[in-house]
Amino acid sequence: EAGLYIVATPIGNLGDITVRAVDVLRGCEVIACEDTRVTGKLLKHCGVSTRMQRYDDHASERQRATLIEQARTQAVALVSDAGTPLISDPGYRLVRDARKAGITVTSLPGACAAITGLTLAGLPNDRFLFAGFLPVKEKARANMLAELGEVAATLIFYETGPRLERSLRAIADIWPQREVAVARELTKLHEECRTGAAAELAEHYREHPPKGEIVLLIGPPAENIGDGDPDALLTEALIDHSPS
Ligand code: SAM
Repeated sequence: EAGLYIVATPIGNLGDITVRAVDVLRGCEVIACEDTRVTGKLLKHCGVSTRMQRYDDHASERQRATLIEQARTQAVALVSDAGTPLISDPGYRLVRDARKAGITVTSLPGACAAITGLTLAGLPNDRFLFAGFLPVKEKARANMLAELGEVAATLIFYETGPRLERSLRAIADIWPQREVAVARELTKLHEECRTGAAAELAEHYREHPPKGEIVLLIGPPAENIGDGDPDALLTEALIDHSPS
C-alpha cells in the first residue's frame, strides 16, 4: 500500500522489533533513516534488503517533497536510529507536509525510551510530561526546570552520561525532596534503574560515571503524590465513558 509509514525500531534489544515493522520494512520501496550504517545493521539482523536513504528534518525542502511524492504511489518508511521516530528524532516536518499533501500516514508503534523508563521507575504515572533533552547551558536548564516545576506530573527527560551529574545537581538545588529516577541502558544487557533524591543520585554517579543512554525522571511535587489511587481513577474514567 502506498503511503508514509512511521516505523518504531528497538532501543537496544533487537528482539523488540515488531513483526509488523519487519513486514513493512521488507515490503516498502525505500527506508528513510538518520544513518544508513545504524539502520543497515538492523535490516541485516532482520534479513531485509530494502534500499535506504538518509533523511533528517534539516534535509532540503526538495528532498522532503520528493519523498512525499514517492509516498503517493509507493510505500515509504521512516525510521530513526533507535526507538520511535519524531520522539526527540527527525520526522515532524515530513509527517506534517505529507498530511498536508493528502498522503496516507500510518504509524507503527514500538519501543520508546521515555515510556519504557516511565513503566520501570515506579514513579506516579497517571500524569506525565515528556520534555526531551534538558538544555546544556546552565541558565537555560535552570529556566526550563523552573518552568516545569509547577506541573503536577512526573517529568521525563532524555539525558547523556557526561551531563547526568550536573543535571542531578541542578535538580537537587531546586527540589531536594522530589523523588528522581535514572533509567539507563534500557532493554540492554546492563539495564539499570536507580531511584532516590537527586543529591544522592548525583553522588552515586560522581563515583560511578554512567555509561550509555539515559532517561531521567522526576516525580511530581509532593502535594500531588498519592493524589488519588491511579487504579481507582482509571476505573472511574472507564465507567464514565462507557456507552450506556
Ligand atoms: N526516538 C527515541 C525513542 O523513541 O526513545 C529517542 C531518540 S533520542 C535522539 C536518544 C535518547 O533517547 C538518548 O540520549 C537517551 O536519553 C534515550 N534513549 C534511547 N535509547 C535508550 C535506552 N536504551 N536506554 C535509556 N535511554 C535511551
